This record gives sequence, structure tokens and C-alpha cells, in this order.
Amino acid sequence: MTKKAASLAIISNNTFEATKAVNLHQYDISSALQTTLEFNELIAIFSGKIADKIPHSAYIYANAEFGLEVKSGVFTRHSCNYALKVEQQQLGELKLMRNYRFSEADLQLLETLLCCLIYPLKNATLFHQALKMAYIDPLTQTNNRASFNDSIKREISLANRNAKSLSLIFFDIDHFKVINDTYGHHCGDVTLASSAKWIKESLRASDLVYRYGGEEFVILLSDTNAIVAEMLAERIRSSIESHTIAYGMETIKITASLGVSTLQAGDTLESFVKKADDAMYKAKNNGRNQVALASSRIQERQRLSL
Ligand code: GH3
Ligand code: MG
Ligand code: MG
Repeated sequence: MTKKAASLAIISNNTFEATKAVNLHQYDISSALQTTLEFNELIAIFSGKIADKIPHSAYIYANAEFGLEVKSGVFTRHSCNYALKVEQQQLGELKLMRNYRFSEADLQLLETLLCCLIYPLKNATLFHQALKMAYIDPLTQTNNRASFNDSIKREISLANRNAKSLSLIFFDIDHFKVINDTYGHHCGDVTLASSAKWIKESLRASDLVYRYGGEEFVILLSDTNAIVAEMLAERIRSSIESHTIAYGMETIKITASLGVSTLQAGDTLESFVKKADDAMYKAKNNGRNQVALASSRIQERQRLSL
């Protein structure tokens, strides 16, 4: 017990040990906090449960790891802040506000009550980390194939229901095997991570990037027609071409081939994906480092201009 307490901390101006705070009277708060694994709900429940003992007009909870900021109430002049932490695990920061000072007794009681929040926050953190791991590719920090399979179904039905455009870009690094063979697998990994970063930098935050396979990425563009999708694909191609990878003493240039398809009436998930994949192979066959469209009109234009 003592060991456990030593690794539990609510970092404020005061240091804090769990044993001081373990209090069966907090059973009511603890059981309410066991009902959810969502950060915003945990904080709202905690705020509500302590309101009679520690009146406050607002709270702000921030969790950098999950890019989260939850705010509620009327912001006032006086505040107290806690960086919450357990066993080296950061659990976010909580600020309470009100229009008169928090007394020493208030702060002591609050620290006691915060103890009830720590482990539910830790469980929520573990849960959300696991969710993230199931859907994020660790090397490139893009969404993974499982996430793509979920998203594309949702995006197709949204596009059909709301009569909106939906486009898909298939992206494949040219001659990637040569990078692995020449500079080693680690350099290949660096190339993949850099490419993902440059793809993301070329897009809006709402555009979703997925690692589809080894050196293939797909980008789902909701509410985006063929003309805009082609422009975005060209922007990505040009960005990849203009960057240089510094690897040890080496400087490496890469290019990529991209295929674009836009959802048409009668398309199935499979046909929509296949058209983008086919277009990407067309870009490869046409000489790489280029964008090809799946649209039959553009295909025709490309054929005639050869
Ligand atoms: P192309 O221009 O026709 O696309 O040629 P390519 O060499 O890019 O394509 P190919 O499919 O022949 O090779 C892809 C290589 O990607 C082979 C595989 O070993 C490598 N690869 C797949 N996943 C990873 C990874 O996670 N890291 C690294 N370093 N290499 C990977
Ligand atoms: Mg490939
Ligand atoms: Mg390739």
C-alpha cells in the first residue's frame, strides 16, 4: 500500500500521498466515476459530485496526449490547478475556478477528493491508448488499414445520403525497394514516416490519411470532387518530389505515383477502391512521378495526348 501511494501524485504546490486521501466516504464519487471511460464525462461527474463541498463556477480539463480540452461553466478570477499523474503516467491538467479565493482547507479537501479521480482517469487513458493503437500505424502515425476499412464504409454512405462528392487518392512511393536495398530498412522506415508527414502537410486537417500497405497510402477526401482531388494529388506529388531526406551523410530524393477516383452512381466500395488503385498503376506505367485519374473522360484525354 505504501509503495503504491508513493507513486501516486497530484502535482500542485504541495506534494501529495495517496494514503492521506484514501477515504471510504468518497465511495459515492468513486462509484459514479466507474460508469464511464470518457474523459469529458469523468470530469463532468467529478465536478458535479464535489460541487457542494467545493463550490466552483467552472472547470477546464486539458489532456495533451489526446489533444483534448474540456471546458464548462463561467470563467472567474480565482483558480486552482492540478497536473494529475500516476506511476509516471500523465493524466492531464485540471483547473477549477470561482470568484473568491480557494482556502487552504478547500485545497486540502480537493486534493483528498482528487484521489478518487486518478484511477478512473488512468483507466480512461489506457482505454484510449488501446483504441489509438488499434487504429494508428505506429511508424507513420497515420490511420491504419483497419481504420480505413471502417471509415470508407461510413464515408460512402454519408456521401450517398447527402448527395456529396467523395474522392480517394492512392499513393505509392516509386522504386521504394531500391531505398531499402541501398540504404537499409531503417532508412526505408524514415522515408515512410517522412512521406506520411509531407502528405499530411499538403492536406486539410479533415482529410484522412491511411497507411494501406507497405509503401502505399490512401487519402479519403470527403465533399471533394474529381477536379479538386486531382489538384490535391498533384500538390502531394510535387511536395514529395521537392523534399530531400537527410539520412546520415546521404541525401535521398524520392517520387511517388498517385491514382485518383471519385465516387460515381452505382459504385460499390470495391469498385471505388479498385478504380483508384488502377489509376495509380496507370501512373506507374506511364513513367511514375505523376497523377492519373480514374475518370473515363480524363483517361480518354490522356490516351489522345500520348
Ligand atoms: P514501384 O515503383 O513499382 O512501386 O516499386 P517499389 O520498389 O516501390 O515497389 P515494390 O512493391 O517492389 O516494393 C515495395 C517494398 O516496400 C518491398 C518491401 O520490402 C518494402 N516495405 C514494405 N513495408 C515496409 C516497411 O514497413 N518498412 C520498410 N523499410 N520497407 C517496407
Ligand atoms: Mg506498392
Ligand atoms: Mg512502390
